[in-house]
Amino acid sequence: MKRLDIVKTREAIASGTHVRDIVNQYIETIDDKNPEFNIVVRDSRQEALNHAENVQKKILDGTAGKLAGVVFGIKDVISEKDKIVSCASKMLGNFESVYDATVIERLKAEDAILLSRLNMDEFAMGSSTENSIYGPTKNPHDPSCVTGGSSGGSAASVAAGFSLASLGSDTGGSIRQPASYCGVVGLKPSYGRVSRYGLVAYASSFDSIGPLTNSVEDAATILGVIAGRDDNDGSSSFEPVPNYNAAVNLGAKGLRIGVPEEYFGEGLDDEIRDIITARLKQFENDGATLVPIHLPNMQYAIATYYVLATAEASSNLARFDGVRYGHRADQKRVREELKQEEKTLRDALKMAEGKNKIVVENELNTLDTPLARLYKESRAEGFGTEVKRRIMLGTYVLSAGYYDAYYGKAQRIRRLIKNDFESVFNDVDVIVSPTAPTTAFKLGENQDDPIKMYLNDIYTISANLAGICGISVPAGTHSNGLPVGIQFMGAAFDEASILRASRIVELQ
Ligand code: GLN
Repeated sequence: MKRLDIVKTREAIASGTHVRDIVNQYIETIDDKNPEFNIVVRDSRQEALNHAENVQKKILDGTAGKLAGVVFGIKDVISEKDKIVSCASKMLGNFESVYDATVIERLKAEDAILLSRLNMDEFAMGSSTENSIYGPTKNPHDPSCVTGGSSGGSAASVAAGFSLASLGSDTGGSIRQPASYCGVVGLKPSYGRVSRYGLVAYASSFDSIGPLTNSVEDAATILGVIAGRDDNDGSSSFEPVPNYNAAVNLGAKGLRIGVPEEYFGEGLDDEIRDIITARLKQFENDGATLVPIHLPNMQYAIATYYVLATAEASSNLARFDGVRYGHRADQKRVREELKQEEKTLRDALKMAEGKNKIVVENELNTLDTPLARLYKESRAEGFGTEVKRRIMLGTYVLSAGYYDAYYGKAQRIRRLIKNDFESVFNDVDVIVSPTAPTTAFKLGENQDDPIKMYLNDIYTISANLAGICGISVPAGTHSNGLPVGIQFMGAAFDEASILRASRIVELQ
């Protein structure tokens, strides 16, 4: 189906298309293509169709909200009341949320229609949407390739016409990188711009919720709806929300674009470099000024991120203990196994002598309590490999003796990276870069090489470290047929400028 935007949807409704028919078109596309692409993990079509009837009535009454008839898919990490929010993990496979995230409340208040829950990397950890209990999502442009991640389902849903827009979350690039790989617009707002209430936390000082859309205008509209202070999230900002739609069409004249040398060096695909460079020439022709800049601490961004984000993750994920909610190991089996272990040790103790006896005694004394063993088993069964890797890394960098060397040092580098950006934004309105060093890679290609996987976020991660905003917009097509994204980063709370720059790319 053709990819609509919000304005065209409004026009269609105004000229008599029933909201139910709009929803049905998306449902048909899902039924047709989801078996191949694995984008939607659950849909609530009946509820969406019922809602469509209500929205239609409101449209006729003239009381409908800004997003009337706009069909959304939601990354399965954002809570919707009475719906499963699995985070693509066995740990939360059957967990139903008891409340709506603030972003969901705000979408509903504007009459958006929430149709589906979208695939992702488990707990938003990954760059490919391959780390999921539901299996990998495939790229709508080439099903042998990944979608990027962790919001791969959100990017693919928009690209494949499963929803008009979607929400994703971005901790180190998870909205922008999949947007680039799938050829859609993906906006990561500044830290604190959009409430995180109801987002299952990965790394709380990095996480942002943002829209993935077919157009820059749509991103501006949706950001306008979801942004703003929320008393349920103490880190959400009181900064007033400007009219983003007005900012979108300010044009290139006078726009100062910082071009950081560090973002165009080794590791960047040559064709991507050429595509971005050609765009920058056009910007100059359109009246923008290019300013060479430096972000000297960018080289430390990936290492800093993986120390800090895993530290926060290890703490955030400690709540999943199998007792209060989430996956619980079979208690009876766990108790039996523990009893058996104890018996084996007691038998061994009878035979043991000398030093060996001390060893066995020690093992007996330190044997898990049934509760501790239940925690361990539940977590061992509930979490996937990548999540476990990060919990271990995070607890390591936070442990006594290593804290200063890793966590403390990384915090100090984070400050330097933030300072670099702040001083650059005195001279420029936006910073430009590729979104990712390559186009979408093949499924399975980076699965056994975490470091290679982590390097995908080299251009996106520093925006999260600095708390600033970033956006990826389609900039062209690679000779391999896959989309290429261009990224703009803006000062904290200056989403208006990156939306403005992005719109120029669309018009070029
Ligand atoms: N790919 C990065 C990671 O794996 C970023 C993920 C994200 O932004 N949620 O941590």
